[in-house]
Amino acid sequence: MSLMMYLDGEMVPEEQAKVSVFDHGLLYGDGVFEGIRAYDGRVFRLDQHIDRLERSAKAIMLSIPMTHEEMCRATVETCRANELVDGYVRFVVTRGVGDLGLDPRKCPKPTVFIIAAGIQLYPEELYETGLTLITCSTRRNSASCLDPGVKSLNYLNNILARMECNHAGVAEGIMLTSEGMVSECTADNIFYVGGGVLNTPPTEAGILNGITRQTVIEIAADLGIECRERMFPVSDVYAADECFLTGTGAELVPVVDVDGRIIGNGKPGAITKRLLEGFRELTKSEGTPIYD
Ligand code: PMP
Repeated sequence: MSLMMYLDGEMVPEEQAKVSVFDHGLLYGDGVFEGIRAYDGRVFRLDQHIDRLERSAKAIMLSIPMTHEEMCRATVETCRANELVDGYVRFVVTRGVGDLGLDPRKCPKPTVFIIAAGIQLYPEELYETGLTLITCSTRRNSASCLDPGVKSLNYLNNILARMECNHAGVAEGIMLTSEGMVSECTADNIFYVGGGVLNTPPTEAGILNGITRQTVIEIAADLGIECRERMFPVSDVYAADECFLTGTGAELVPVVDVDGRIIGNGKPGAITKRLLEGFRELTKSEGTPIYD
């Protein structure tokens, strides 16, 4: 059965969900998006995701022709139209159809579409064995050029880094700031544990302020685990007791090897496991219901 897509206010089958070749989302990556998870018939942290989408849109002066509530409702309706219980939602707003020039004033109407689909998860055994990372030579965009805090459709910076990971045969990689400090990974935020304390780069490092990152910081506070948001070099990660990545798709995935350095004892650490457990409990207990 084909998926049903939300496209500019209507629910249409996948085959009819088409956007113009003149859409500036396609021509220039001019737009914003969100990746959202549904767990057990509920959309996780929907309000926070729509808030971030609105902030990203504001930063690029894109006015979304829907209210916050309408966007939440459209997300839930798209899940319902696809009988989604567990899955992934992609909410995209582009500058819309214009001419071949850059000028956004030629794009009178943003394009809005929502895809609710299954999700390709990391295999469960990876949560037991942990990931290997490399440090990518592609540096993260500087905030003075294109703020990584804006979740824009322009992901070429991340894709170039991901190609380095593919070449090295690993699933993720660390991206450094222009100054050479750790920022984040190609599609995940990064944390490490040293002496029982969590460390993660601050938003000023030029990162996407992940919803999972924010959730993990909350869980850590509830568990009495100190979390420092500060800049650090990759050598701090090499010397860490534990390391993990966070993201909507990844949840919390342990890291056991960075650039050939074994992290801790080479197995997912105790704090990582407690935080993952706490995160999974939250996904079971909260969220916006899709079905009444
Ligand atoms: N950083 C980048 C570059 C991302 O694309 C993402 C989203 N996949 C994240 C971090 C994690 O953010 P979130 O927890 O909101 O999914």
